[in-house]
Amino acid sequence: MLKSKTFVKKTRAGGVMKIVREHYLRDDIWCGSDICTECKHECAVLQRDPFIESNLCSYLHYVIPDTNVVLHQIDVLENPVICNVIILQTVLQEVRHRSAPVYKRLKDIIHEKEKHFYTFTNEHHKETFIEREPGESANDRNDRAIRVAAKWYSQHLEKSRAEADGPKVVLLTNDQGNKRKAEESGLLVYADIIVHRLLAVAVGADSTYPDLMDKQKQAALSNNLNYRHKMSQYAQRASVAFHTQLFFKSRGILNEDGFVLFVRKNAIIVLIPKFGLEGTVPSLVVEQHTFRLFDKVKVTISLDASNIQHQKIRMSLIEPVIAGVSVPPPDVEPQAKKPKLDR
Ligand SMILES: [Zn+2]
Repeated sequence: MLKSKTFVKKTRAGGVMKIVREHYLRDDIWCGSDICTECKHECAVLQRDPFIESNLCSYLHYVIPDTNVVLHQIDVLENPVICNVIILQTVLQEVRHRSAPVYKRLKDIIHEKEKHFYTFTNEHHKETFIEREPGESANDRNDRAIRVAAKWYSQHLEKSRAEADGPKVVLLTNDQGNKRKAEESGLLVYADIIVHRLLAVAVGADSTYPDLMDKQKQAALSNNLNYRHKMSQYAQRASVAFHTQLFFKSRGILNEDGFVLFVRKNAIIVLIPKFGLEGTVPSLVVEQHTFRLFDKVKVTISLDASNIQHQKIRMSLIEPVIAGVSVPPPDVEPQAKKPKLDR
């Protein structure tokens, strides 16, 4: 497909010259994503599972930075954590015009294979090329071209995402007007998640908290977030353990069927499907019996409250009967009804 633009220009000598500018639009420019089932690229640059080390975003995503983000946050883009980024041709051209050193650094990143930066020639793609509208500034036209390309990406990848849960695209911009227009057209500019906002700030997409741009403060904040995250995980695990113990405390001794999940040197890990409970059954060293994965076993489950600070769910083997390892099945008392709460 060919688009041609014709305009007339006055020459120095006072004559008039007719200029015809030809612009080729193609339909064989690929999106570069490994999840895509439509494009016929041989080796995709953008990974199926864009891995962000810091887990800043709750969903998989590719980042499309606008020109200002590239110009002002090139050192963030150079950070090894940031990969799987789509560089639009419009952005590349604007950067080249505005800063030769940044352009050089951007080209270097694009050439680094492990960064997975993909250059998308949106100005030659028949669905993403746009004409400048009457009264529209070159700047506004380029911002619009970036939004159109980002929109195309999100719709294009949506088709493949229907089959497999693949990455979305996120446009990064620090221009409030551009952000608003992009959101109006239904683009993910950046999700409203506090942690993702941190990423947005890190790449200059948000300027609300200048403190976050301070590397020292940012490191301190990250450390604090990581610490709190770790503590909440501990609390979560402790809470699960606590409620499991409460449950078995009220049940007394139980004899249940289970299946061998893992076989260790001196223990087997058993899954009790009835309770979705996994537990370790010490078997010491057994020579006269071979445990295999998914063997059916019978175990007795009880709460060991001998150390009040470290109550434990204890499991012992009943079947198969192995001398010195298995225990005789304890008598299970008829289950005591839960005492009714006073009303
Ligand atoms: Zn594609």
